Amino acid sequence: MESFESILIKNGYILTLDPKRRILPKGSIRIEGNKIVEVSKTPSKLPQAELEIDATGKIVMPGLIDTHVHLAQALIRGCADDVSLVDWLKNYVWVLQGNFTHEDGKVSAELCMAEMIRTGTTGFIECMIHSRYGFDGIAESVENIGMRAALSKIIMDSTGYADSPDIMYPGMIESADACLAETESMLKKWQWAAHGRIQVWYGLRSLGAVTPDLFKTVVGLADEHDTRMTMHLGEVQDDVRYVRENHNTNLVGFARKMGLLGENMVFAHGIHFEDEEIQELAATQSNISHCPASNMKLASGFAKIPTMLEYGVPVSLGCDGGPSNNAYDMIREMRLAALIHKPHANDPTVVSAEEVIEMATLGGAKALGLGDKLGSLETGKFADLILVDMHRLNLTPKTNPVSNLVYAGSGYDVDTVIVNGRILLQEKKHLTVDIEEVMVRAEKHAAELVERAGVEIVPKWPISN
Ligand SMILES: [Zn+2]
Repeated sequence: MESFESILIKNGYILTLDPKRRILPKGSIRIEGNKIVEVSKTPSKLPQAELEIDATGKIVMPGLIDTHVHLAQALIRGCADDVSLVDWLKNYVWVLQGNFTHEDGKVSAELCMAEMIRTGTTGFIECMIHSRYGFDGIAESVENIGMRAALSKIIMDSTGYADSPDIMYPGMIESADACLAETESMLKKWQWAAHGRIQVWYGLRSLGAVTPDLFKTVVGLADEHDTRMTMHLGEVQDDVRYVRENHNTNLVGFARKMGLLGENMVFAHGIHFEDEEIQELAATQSNISHCPASNMKLASGFAKIPTMLEYGVPVSLGCDGGPSNNAYDMIREMRLAALIHKPHANDPTVVSAEEVIEMATLGGAKALGLGDKLGSLETGKFADLILVDMHRLNLTPKTNPVSNLVYAGSGYDVDTVIVNGRILLQEKKHLTVDIEEVMVRAEKHAAELVERAGVEIVPKWPISN
């Protein structure tokens, strides 16, 4: 059973992430319906609940929020490793995704969500859903499987990428009219559906794929519909050259001209900014989704996260996709986020374990536009939370559970996942998705997709049959 009128979680090592960042070493949380109604240092005062969970030896913390996910790329995991970005896009990723059917889109989304739930992610931002992935099927899966999600419909009207014109694979191209019409109808159908868990956003493709007119149109529409936007920005140096040559400005200057800056925007990657641009991102409270694994794998560069944190830019974390990460495990991502900046800054004190947990929880909630409803364990907030099993070799001894979680943890240490008061994972078992079936279907669809796309994917070593 997944749904209860009330749940009491007792004796947990609670990371509240409240304004004082209190830790309650033997705390309790009471959930009623989809909300947290009480957080207490001791269990004794709280009334009994329909379900009681003994969280002895477990961290209890806000659910992790992945703010840059490509659901469709779970099915093409491992399909493009150790190649340059343009090669990666042109010869692998776009060709495979450009051959998707709606069924592939659904299978990939379910595989991706099952992995996210298993590893402690409760909410996510999917950044660009192409019409060929089947928006409806994906939204239905989110509704049934139970995660909280912002699903962004892809928006584009050009076939370029950064400063390379006309390089997009035919199967990945959509017209502005088609993109806008589909977003409009999906907004009508899915905005705040599934008990408020689903949002529909505008997923602006990237520089080179969206003309200034379309950028401005979408900014107006997002405002009109009171919804939000996301886009890749500054992932590659070519983005900087593109705005310099075409618009005689820098990335943030271009974003300002298009009306893209503000708290309702999530920029993914955000690597190639100068300090003055970072100050403007902070002043406008534009969100950055930091994707350390993807940035390392594709040698995109080092996002200036220590500077962003210093200036007060809202930073969250993203796993990106199956060919760029290649996992959807936010605990591994937290570890990388805490590690990557230290050698680059030549300073082991930058980006602490506590700061990356804030990015993965409070930062994610803000990026989702739900900063006052999500991201911490406080009375009145939505009951999106996880229990992490500390009785694990890699998390022993429990001298400093916060350090253990970030530097020694893995998503597979997660024991229980609750979203909107509903239990999705209990004692490491999925309650809302049949993972054996998901894996069987994913194998079949991946094999058929690779065949249909005509892409050759083999290990570099000889295979003896
Ligand atoms: Zn991406």
